[in-house]
Amino acid sequence: MSPFDGLDHIVQTDVPLGPFNSLRLGGPTAFLAVPTCSAELIAVVGRARQAGLPVKVLGDGANVLIPSAGFPGLVIQLSAPEFTGTSVDGQRLTAGGGVKLAHFVSVAAREGFKGPEQLVGIPGTVGGALHVNTSTVGGNIGAWVQQATVLTAAGEILTRSRDQMNFSYRQSSLNELAIVSAVFEFERDSSEAVVRRMQKLWIVRKSKQPLLDEPCAYVFKDQGGATATQVLTKAGIQGLKSGGIEVSDRDPNFFVARPGATSDHFLQLVQMVKQQVLDRSGIELELSVDVW
Ligand SMILES: Cc1cc2nc3c(=O)[nH]c(=O)nc-3n(C[C@H](O)[C@H](O)[C@H](O)COP(=O)(O)OP(=O)(O)OC[C@H]3O[C@@H](n4cnc5c(N)ncnc54)[C@H](O)[C@@H]3O)c2cc1C
Repeated sequence: MSPFDGLDHIVQTDVPLGPFNSLRLGGPTAFLAVPTCSAELIAVVGRARQAGLPVKVLGDGANVLIPSAGFPGLVIQLSAPEFTGTSVDGQRLTAGGGVKLAHFVSVAAREGFKGPEQLVGIPGTVGGALHVNTSTVGGNIGAWVQQATVLTAAGEILTRSRDQMNFSYRQSSLNELAIVSAVFEFERDSSEAVVRRMQKLWIVRKSKQPLLDEPCAYVFKDQGGATATQVLTKAGIQGLKSGGIEVSDRDPNFFVARPGATSDHFLQLVQMVKQQVLDRSGIELELSVDVW
């Protein structure tokens, strides 16, 4: 008997997770749920809790490494329309946790909201970005959030106000099980000016990222006043590889997966690179990618 009897219309078993992450790596999850409303979300989380299964929410998979053995529990995707809508009221933008960052950025640009254009070209969802406080030199997503609705592991829906949240470099206090939606507030500019800035940033960012069809991850956090890219370049890690995983020749803070790559190759390259940086620069790099 499955722990999700009666919820079969939203829960699949033994689903490969490779197609759902930017590295295209990793084994299957025991269960994958795509709830269509908050009641179903609460129900699947409750059933997993009763069955003693670990639960994770997966956004766009742009900041996770799924082990080769997969995930022995329930993975939830907030990709149904209930969790992927946006609405605008004055200077406020409300977005579901499953809204793609690209959509969030373009809605904000259309409205002339200043700031989100800084995130153009970064893959992810609003929930994933708030969980890790996705950032660029121009700003971080946590800076604009006023309120967040979250689901706790105990199955409770709570609202967090601005003064109950903290964001710092690649860190967020929003660590509940699921970020269901969030309300952002922005200063206004003209839509034309925002779109112009966004187009310029997009061209620069795309020229530094791996090519669109290359499975990849953005690997380390910035450290000690320098960007991870600067630290890695100085330590001469360009050209390093482990099995099917290589350091990108466009930016050493991206690792690219080639045919035959595995999650173990990724972790081995992480160790090699960390050791070389420590030996040559004395800096202990911290992983940005969330290893499940
Ligand atoms: C080409 C490329 C460029 C990148 N550039 C940048 C960059 O410039 N700056 C930067 O900061 N990052 C960058 N990243 C990393 C990544 O894009 C961001 O961290 C992104 O915001 C992750 O969002 P996601 O939805 O893909 O999260 P996922 O990878 O799906 O998840 C990341 C973590 O968040 C959790 N999570 C996901 N959704 C939710 C939710 N709704 N509620 C609660 N928890 C959730 C997951 O459980 C996981 O622990 C880049 C990645 C790539 C591949």
